[in-house]
Parts: sequence; C-alpha cells; structure tokens
Amino acid sequence: MALIPDSILTEPLGAARRWMKVLFQQAEFYQPQTPSGYQILPFRFARWPDGEILLTNEVGEFLFLDERAFDQFVEGTIPPSATAYRSLQAAQFLTDCSSTLPLELLATKYRTKRDFLDGFTKLHMFVVTLRCDHSCPYCQVSRVTQDKTRFDMSRETAAKAIDLLFGSPAPALKVEFQGGESLLNFDLIRWCVERIDERNQAEGRDIEFVIATNLSPLSDEILEFCAAHAICLSTSLDGPAFIHNANRPRPGGDSYEVTIRNLERARAVLGHDRVSALMTTTPLSLQHPREIVGEYVRQGFDAIFLRSISPYGFAVKGRRVLAYETDQFLSFYRAALDHIIELNRQGTPFVEVYSQILLQKILTPFATGYVDLQSPAGAAIGAVAYNYDGDVYASDEARMLAEMGDTSFRLGNVRTDSYEAMFGGAVARTIVDTSCIETIPGCADCVYAPYCGSDPVFNWATQGDPIGHRPTSAFCRKHMGIFEHLFGLLKNGDTFTKSLFVSWATGQPIVQA
Ligand code: SF4
Repeated sequence: MALIPDSILTEPLGAARRWMKVLFQQAEFYQPQTPSGYQILPFRFARWPDGEILLTNEVGEFLFLDERAFDQFVEGTIPPSATAYRSLQAAQFLTDCSSTLPLELLATKYRTKRDFLDGFTKLHMFVVTLRCDHSCPYCQVSRVTQDKTRFDMSRETAAKAIDLLFGSPAPALKVEFQGGESLLNFDLIRWCVERIDERNQAEGRDIEFVIATNLSPLSDEILEFCAAHAICLSTSLDGPAFIHNANRPRPGGDSYEVTIRNLERARAVLGHDRVSALMTTTPLSLQHPREIVGEYVRQGFDAIFLRSISPYGFAVKGRRVLAYETDQFLSFYRAALDHIIELNRQGTPFVEVYSQILLQKILTPFATGYVDLQSPAGAAIGAVAYNYDGDVYASDEARMLAEMGDTSFRLGNVRTDSYEAMFGGAVARTIVDTSCIETIPGCADCVYAPYCGSDPVFNWATQGDPIGHRPTSAFCRKHMGIFEHLFGLLKNGDTFTKSLFVSWATGQPIVQA
C-alpha cells in the first residue's frame, strides 16, 4: 500500500490539510528531549577497530568516545559531570543551552567551512597547446608531437577566454597555462599575460599566474619574462633519475637531467620558492616511496604531493601497463608518509601536501582552496579549462576525457557561448546537483563526509554515472584509506606526530608538550 494515497494529489485542499495533520505533528513534537535535558546536534559516526566510536559533525569537529559513553550520549543519559559530556558540548555534538546561541555559532562555523563557494570560479586553465616533446605513457592530456602546430591555441581564442576569465566575479583569480608542453607556445603565454595585466589595471583583481611545464624549452628570455610578471612555474618530478626517466621519456632519454638543470636555472632567476613540482605515482614508483621522497629533499623541496594516476588520457589507453590497485597506492602513501614523519622527527622539515590539505579540513575551522575535493565539486564553479580549440570544460579532467572522445562535461565554446550560458547552463548545474555529498548515497552518512568531496567527472569516466557507486569506487576507497590512516595517527600516533599534523594544518611551528 502506498504511504500517501494518490487521492491527495487530486482531492480538494481540505483533504490535503487533513493528510498533513496525520503526516506532520506540531513543531514541539520534533524538539529532541533527552533524560539529561540536552539536545543532540547533527553528527555522523563510525566504529573504530578498537571498539571506540569516531564522531564527526558538519563543521568538521571530531571526537573519539568509548562505547559506553557513546551509548549514554545517544540514549540521552550521559551525565553533565562526565568528561565526555564536556567534550561533546565543546565540539558541538550536544547543547544544553536554551538559547539559540550554540546553533548560531554552528551556523557561523558552517559558513566559514563553505566559504570556498564565495567568488565562484577562481582557477582558469588555458591549454595553450597539446604539443609536447615528451611521450610519457601516463600522459593525461593525449599530447601530440611537436610539429603539429594546429593544436596550438590562437590569439583570437585566447582573447575570448580572457573575456570569460574576467566574467568571473572572483576578486582573486589564478591563471594556469597548461599543455602538452605549454612553453612550446610561449608567445601566446606572453601575449595572454600582457593582455590580462593591461586589462587588470581597470579591473583591479588579485591575479596569480602559473605555468605548468616540464622545463625543457626554458630559455633566458622566458625566465626574464616570468620574473618581470611574478609568474610561478610548476614542473613534474617523479623521483630519482631511474624513475623519472622511465616515467617521462623524451628523445635522448635525459628528461631527469634536463629537469634538474633547468630547475636550478629557474630558481636562480625567479627565487627558490617560485618553482614547485608534482609527482605522479606509476607502478614503478610504488616500490620506491623512500627514494622518491629522498629525491625531493635532495633537490631542496620542502614538500611533496603524493598523487595517484588519473584515469584519463594515455593513462587509460595504456591501462595494462599502468594499472595498479588503490590498495597498492595506499601502501605506497602510508610508507612515504611514515618516512616523511621520520624525516621531520630527525630535524628535516618536510610536508606531504595531500595530508596537509586533509588535516587543514580536520583540524582547522577553515575551508581549503583545493578544488579537487569539495562538496559540491569544484568543476565549473571552482575551476575551468579553456582548450586550445576554444572548447570550455568544467575541469582539466573533463578536458582530458574529451580528448578521449567523451565531451559530456563540455560547457560550451568561447566563440559561440556566453559566460551565463556556460557557467549557469545544464552541464554546470548537473555537476553541482550530482556532487553534493550530503545527499549522495554512501557519502551522506559517511563519517568522513565533512572532509571529503565528490568528483563527478571521475565517477563518469570510471563508472558511467556522475553520482557513482561508493562500494566499488576507487575514489572512495582511496579517500577512505587516507582518512582512516590520518585519523588513526591522530588517535594513536605519538606526541610528535600529532604536533607535526597540527603544525601542517595551521602553518605554525611544531609545539610539543
Ligand atoms: S567518497 Fe567515500 S570516503 Fe568520501 S565521503 Fe563518500 S563514502 Fe566517505
């Protein structure tokens, strides 16, 4: 029998009102009453392997309770004199205040956590060419050979993309030039930077420029221009020579040597901290976490971002060569993180960036600017990619998917579509609709939801559905594994590890008890 008869949809209003009385009680009915007189505030929970319960709430507060305290809490019988009561109260899992103040405070914290939504799309990626001198098997962008200049972005396309960039209401914008190898079309980068700077004299935005490059085409002229316009460089470094050269082949087989030589040149002109590096984990990398971290330390970096391979571009085409299980990545991540903690303990300050992002979410009241793990997803509303041909994609991953023939996340084209049509259109709205983890099956009641996010492009690419299926999702498995590891260390790690994590999250020096 249906819970609500069909007649309610057709009967006159009086009948509907009668049904409403049956379905909905007076407001007081829903006021939570507990024997101890406190009100339980919204929370999620999970049982930990040692029997304790991890509780989290929507603003990211967390608490471990033993089973007895947890049972008392949910039964409404935990005595106000108990230590756990005060912890639950301080972290806003319960309130015994008759005023609305605690709820207003919770709302303020919630707004702070969600302030990444403010300003709309901040990261604008210009894919200035697909040409590249490397032929990395995992290449996520389906690059073309250096001679194919028809895969370069034109000035006309770039000018339209710049119009869209300034269409964004964000007061602070980040412009990232990507490829292929972006410096193979440096003339266009220079042209764009000069146009954007010129136009920004009237706009007055805070604009940051980054060039993603393998550094091989670097010249003195390029470096001078980057120095004059405060442009940062972001390069790739997969580890020591035997890993980097195997992962990133180029004619001559000297990708590592070229990268290191030009890294030093770039640092000398731009400043040490204006050149960053990213690594991609391949099956070869999995066996060498210490060597990869050691290479970053040797090259003077103070951080590494342990990135798993993405299911796009040649990474998918070469699936048999490049595939590894999420659990293999998690073993690699844990081993590398353990090594990094030991380095810090021995006096070498060094950060694992992904852990740092998650710890900022767990240990501070603030949002991070990381668009790849948020709810709703950052695609379109946080980041956008302008392809060389003028097509506009909701994210760089959406653009990579298009290079594989799937244009599902194409927002439009700079020549034919308006800002409003693209950023307020059906594709952008679908992305937002399908990526609020508060409503996604599996995520909605997951204890890690306050810190996690959704990636509808990844879900679509791997499961054929933007919402995805959590029990079989590699994205979920990876994040569940990382959260379990970090919370395990926050619970059972030694004092140094906990202090180190607080220091990573807050940017403050390590304070040890
Ligand atoms: S993706 Fe997985 S880990 Fe993240 S919130 Fe959803 S269920 Fe939890």
